[in-house]
Amino acid sequence: MDRKLLIAANWKMNPVPDGAFEQDSPYKTHSAVDVYVFPTFLDLPASIESKIITGAQFGRAEETGAFTGDVSMQMIKEAGCIAVLCGHSDRRAFHGESNEDVAAQAIAALEAELHPIVCFGETEEERDSGKAENVIKAQLKPLPTESDIILAYEPIWAISRGDPNKPAATSEDAQEMHAFIRSQLPEDKRESTRILYGGSMKSENAQELLTQPDIDGGLVGGASLKPDDFRKIVETAIKLTTNN
Ligand code: PEP
Repeated sequence: MDRKLLIAANWKMNPVPDGAFEQDSPYKTHSAVDVYVFPTFLDLPASIESKIITGAQFGRAEETGAFTGDVSMQMIKEAGCIAVLCGHSDRRAFHGESNEDVAAQAIAALEAELHPIVCFGETEEERDSGKAENVIKAQLKPLPTESDIILAYEPIWAISRGDPNKPAATSEDAQEMHAFIRSQLPEDKRESTRILYGGSMKSENAQELLTQPDIDGGLVGGASLKPDDFRKIVETAIKLTTNN
């Protein structure tokens, strides 16, 4: 089955990159490749108005209530978003989100008719001690994988690697884990579920990663803040799609 590549830009808590909301923005989507952008909450309206496919970086599972500082999935949908990140490693680390919290967010996102992009992945220590697959199984277990969700495998040890001596995951490492993740999905969703890779994807390694059979796109952090780099990643994805 052909799974359409998706390149998602996670701007985290950073200002909007130069020119992102202008006419020739590299963040606009394409017919051949989906491009989604995840700005801060404050920048969502401008992103939506610029006709960019926009998502929120977090949404709370409850619809309303005494949850100071949070925003519900329904509110995100009503604002005009298409998607939402659930369980990014920053949220798991800094806000203590558990696997069950993340699953509740994904379910609430589906109920609000948002596309949940569920992030998960092992730490360096877990990988080095041979526990990566078990950690991932536990992260996947409570998720509504029988529904149409998008997964983003983001090995924590590979995120934001600027140091050339500590490279991102190789395409072989990533492919091996993506194939394992796919094998854990319900049989009728195994072929159709998109599994993105996240962890220092940039213009230099995008082609190698995106040609792996079980990698269906990228969740891009650092390189998504550099419009020229991001444009190259999207162009690579378009080239790979149209050459096939
Ligand atoms: C991320 O934090 O989701 C991410 C993938 O970041 P980076 O691309 O900078 O590794």
